[in-house]
Amino acid sequence: MTQTAASSSEPDLAHFASIDPRTGEVVGQHRVYGEDEVRATVERAREAAAWWGGLGFAERRRRLRAWRALLARRIDQLASVISAETGKPRDDARLEIVLVIDHLDWAARNAEKVLGRRKVAAGPLMANEAASLEYQPHGVIGVIGPWNYPAFTPMGSIGYALAAGNAVVFKPSELTPGVGEWLAESLSEVVGEHPVLQVVTGFGETGAALCRSGVGKLSFTGSTATAKQVMAVCAQSLTPVLIECGGNDALLVDSDADLDAAADAAIWGGMTNAGQTCIGVERVYVVGSVAAAFTERLAARAKRLRPGGQPGADFGPITMAGQVDTIRRHVCDALDGGGRALVGGPESVRPPYVEPIVLVGVAPDSTALTEETFGPTITVSTVADLDEAVSQVNAGRYGLGAAVFSARRGEEIAAALRCGMVSVNGVISFAAVPSLPFGGVGDSGFGRIHGEDGLREFTRAKAVTRRRFRPPIRLLTFNRAPGAVRLLLRLIRIRHGRG
Ligand code: NDP
Repeated sequence: MTQTAASSSEPDLAHFASIDPRTGEVVGQHRVYGEDEVRATVERAREAAAWWGGLGFAERRRRLRAWRALLARRIDQLASVISAETGKPRDDARLEIVLVIDHLDWAARNAEKVLGRRKVAAGPLMANEAASLEYQPHGVIGVIGPWNYPAFTPMGSIGYALAAGNAVVFKPSELTPGVGEWLAESLSEVVGEHPVLQVVTGFGETGAALCRSGVGKLSFTGSTATAKQVMAVCAQSLTPVLIECGGNDALLVDSDADLDAAADAAIWGGMTNAGQTCIGVERVYVVGSVAAAFTERLAARAKRLRPGGQPGADFGPITMAGQVDTIRRHVCDALDGGGRALVGGPESVRPPYVEPIVLVGVAPDSTALTEETFGPTITVSTVADLDEAVSQVNAGRYGLGAAVFSARRGEEIAAALRCGMVSVNGVISFAAVPSLPFGGVGDSGFGRIHGEDGLREFTRAKAVTRRRFRPPIRLLTFNRAPGAVRLLLRLIRIRHGRG
């Protein structure tokens, strides 16, 4: 969605407005960064990266922990900006920032242990060498983020990239530029010497310019369609990419599951943030013997939810106006294909709000089941057992997260699902565990943010060997002794040739 600030007859192409989707009110004006400005920003970031990388882990840890303390003191201020640009309830915004703080703290505290130089065994062939490994920063990381969790999602890259010693240039969504600017300004209060986090605001073309700018790595979070464009541009300069895309997450309910807990999880996982969550529950597969009891509980909970802009609303508006059509289309497609609306229906779509919709008996090829709807809708499909549910889930093109409710088979089913993350007897919990990697497979993308893997994403491995003494059998030389290879082969056969 593109909205400009221009009120005169001459459109102002250099600026755009961010808008409160609840009221249509303009809440901020932002620059549209062009190609040259993005390049200049990345150049400044290079200098910042050299300085920041040279500070070392301990000093970066100190600065980043000071930032996280500042964020903790200003939760309400940042929550106001998030609420104003996305429309989400203030408490949801606060919860998002709590996760930001916890992840930032983990990344700062663990970067040295995960990435710092360490000795590794050289092995018997190279016993005369000392081998070491370290993970060095790329320099400048470009981060392109979405609007649905405008602080938590990009900070999964920004916080970890900074902890690893990189500088960051961040292109926030055009819907949430103020959140990006707030983050950069707050960091500059504790890291004043160089701009280690800069923000380039604008539309898709600004993001494309960042892909062309020569950053060391590009971390993209957004839709699968845009990810393909980002990869195509980055391919031109062999810029490595980390891709976090959408999902179509499923929640599986076994015959021995706690049905109240499963219904609570499905409703929160599906409807929180108005369903605009990449790891939100979009579809439920429930075993036939408990389908009626589960669905009754789910419907009762869905009917109680009230979206709106008022304090105490359960969830806010559809932030991106264009998404309303997708939600309506998926609901109509489900009903046209023989599905039934247990709660709500097409009439629940009342922009900018969408009331809860629960659909049952939806055809497997309906877009409500195969695509990401990104609204407060849940489909419920009945299966004979969880193995059937696993085959249906694994046949989809996305593979981000999933949830399983089962007393006996939770971990077995978690292992069998084709996706990056699973909660057993819970929902979305993995995103709040900083030591766990976050990311998907298939159309949900590749690479990981968060955890040790998330720190390593923003580095490159550097392998070093140092000769300690002259080897008894010299192999890596033209001056090799005549019997050296024969002797080596004999030793190798003794060591590896049996069994
Ligand atoms: P988009 O793909 O529309 O946009 C994502 C970002 O890419 C925005 O900053 C956008 O800028 C920018 N962009 C647009 N076109 C280009 C281009 N050609 N080159 C470079 N950058 C470009 O996604 P949304 O913002 O609508 O976000 C929602 C999507 O994000 C959903 O699919 C959701 O599932 C996914 N998501 C995935 C997460 C994960 O971790 N896996 C987490 C959160 C969301 P602009 O806004 O200015 O167009």
